[in-house]
Amino acid sequence: MLSVASSKAECLIIDSCGIDTSSIIKQLQRQQCSVIQCSFDQASERLTQSNVQLIFLHSCHTDTNALSELHYLRQTYPRIPVILFDEYLDAERINTSMLWQANDFISTALCTDDTLQRVLRYNLKVYQYHTEIERLNQLDPLTGMIHRQQFYKEFGEKLSSLKTTDTSSQFALICVDLDGFNRFNNLHGYAAGDSVVKKMGKRLTKLSSGLISRQGNDEFIMLQPICANENLTQSITALCNQIMHSLTEPYQYLDLEVILPCSIGVALSPKHSCETDILINQATQARIQAKQQSCCSYAVFEQQDSHSKQPQAPIEHELINAIRRNEFELFYQPRIDIMSGNIIGAEGLVRWRHPEKGLIYPDAFIPTAERTGLIVPIGYWVIQQAGLDIQRLISSGLRIKKMSINLSFRQFQDSYLSQTIQRLINKYAIDTTILEFELTESALFNNERHVREGIEALHKLGINFSLDDFGTGYSSFSLLQKLPISSLKIDRSFVGGASHNADDREIVKALIRLAHSLNKEIIAEGVETMGQLNFLTCHGCHQAQGYLYSKPVPYEEFKALLKNGYQLTAESTAMQ
Ligand code: C2E
Ligand code: CA
Ligand code: CA
Repeated sequence: MLSVASSKAECLIIDSCGIDTSSIIKQLQRQQCSVIQCSFDQASERLTQSNVQLIFLHSCHTDTNALSELHYLRQTYPRIPVILFDEYLDAERINTSMLWQANDFISTALCTDDTLQRVLRYNLKVYQYHTEIERLNQLDPLTGMIHRQQFYKEFGEKLSSLKTTDTSSQFALICVDLDGFNRFNNLHGYAAGDSVVKKMGKRLTKLSSGLISRQGNDEFIMLQPICANENLTQSITALCNQIMHSLTEPYQYLDLEVILPCSIGVALSPKHSCETDILINQATQARIQAKQQSCCSYAVFEQQDSHSKQPQAPIEHELINAIRRNEFELFYQPRIDIMSGNIIGAEGLVRWRHPEKGLIYPDAFIPTAERTGLIVPIGYWVIQQAGLDIQRLISSGLRIKKMSINLSFRQFQDSYLSQTIQRLINKYAIDTTILEFELTESALFNNERHVREGIEALHKLGINFSLDDFGTGYSSFSLLQKLPISSLKIDRSFVGGASHNADDREIVKALIRLAHSLNKEIIAEGVETMGQLNFLTCHGCHQAQGYLYSKPVPYEEFKALLKNGYQLTAESTAMQ
């Protein structure tokens, strides 16, 4: 039998009741675990000083007023499983402590070596999964680079050292993206897009001698130190030329070979600013300016005369017109209950029917809409359209359980958000239990008060939230518990990788397990193959969305899918 002895688990026994713990200590030592023991008051210190993997808590801590101590441990050290022990544990005590999130239980008087081995093995695995999730949360899964939040943190530290000590150093902050990437993505699919972004990351890493991170999509940001004795203009020109040269090498994906031009924006510290946010903003502005120039160029930020008005970018103009002319359409992608194959609802996804350019996908205009605040009126249009369509479905005798809509972080800056949504709910008599808002981690875990208040106000109306792109950002487990989030949507990059990448499979399993333990619904997005669906089914995923079932479709097509008997099984789709 496989023994956990080799893993030499570090166990902390917490006991403040003065009972004899020698029997459990002996049992653990027989399994070659290293054991430390302390009272509850000393636990925090021990947990910070040593590398404890498992906590054994004596069940006297589950006596009514001490249950909060168990709760405290689970909230503060969510990575470390807590195993409750006592000579005998009765069902009532087990039930109560389960409510307070104990991970496991042992009655020492009845515990054989085999049982203890099982408990150790299982809980060490839980510990490993949580540790791995925490590690992966620090990294961008696609490129393996540090996340942008970590980049901002390290960048801020560098800038403060520049301000205080190192007066001779200077930095160039470089913001770079590809031209036409969204079009490429929509044309060739996300796998091809991901492959380009990965290669782009590798090429930029080779040229970088400082910090580098992916901002989102195909946008990267680099912090390049420049020596005081170097000529600033020459260094920047040389570096931007190197980047342009490297990024315009062809990208290969399967039989495809493409060349994608790039745009680069540069801001300098201390010349332009010594503040992180300002510099990022300046480099981004410069990149947008570069994009308006000829194909493949770079621009260095130029301080604007405060009196001269910045010309408005054409896409902003067009978006304003699009709102006036009602050029948006809401498509629906069915959401399927995996076990029954029934359509239980849909996610509403906005499209822009441009009079000349045709159908434009959200990735091409949502970022501009967010930056300019135009997402606020577009967002209201989306909710209104969804409300109208829910009403139309119901009056045709069709029923859905969930309709989810994406809500941008920026929309919370509108102080009338909850009132306006309330008005739309009344106007279209929307059943709020059907409505669900999808938020990304950056919005949910943003500490700003108005975001929290906005979420609370909407929740009071009966609306639930789901966490979109789950696994790609910083999830705080305790916040996940506190906020009114009923479901988690596994990001499609992990689901896509589940058919061929062992790491992605482990991540998906861990995310599903996490959702189960947090008592949340778990939805997989971007399901494209039967292999992925079988894998998700095996591991207990509740719902799925993806091309295997259906692409996002216009209202009439979605209605037809619902009408055709509600049933849409993966098998039947796969046969088509
Ligand atoms: P998202 O919320 O992650 O939406 C899922 C995206 O994945 C959709 O792209 C959908 O078409 C695509 N997708 C679904 N199934 C599959 C699949 O099996 N394989 C692949 N490769 N892709 C799949 P879409 O519609 O282009 O939307 C892109 C993003 O734009 C959305 O990502 C969302 O962040 C944003 N967005 C869309 N509509 C709205 C909206 O009304 N408001 C806001 N604020 N954002 C929106
Ligand atoms: Ca979404
Ligand atoms: Ca998503």
